Amino acid sequence: MVEKTTMNECTTCGGDLHVPEDAMVGEILTCPDCGVEFEIVSLVGGQVKLAAAENIKEDWGE
Ligand SMILES: [Zn+2]
Repeated sequence: MVEKTTMNECTTCGGDLHVPEDAMVGEILTCPDCGVEFEIVSLVGGQVKLAAAENIKEDWGE
């Protein structure tokens, strides 16, 4: 059996973040426990690196 999601720990509250198997770099994940948003910054060999999205100041002109 192959895990379809990757578990990551929220750096803010220590809760569980589920990263879908088809997640892509740049995708935003929201912690279900504290609501903090994380951006996926790297996906290498099943290892997911997350960065707090609040620290990313990019204006997409929404
Ligand atoms: Zn959290």
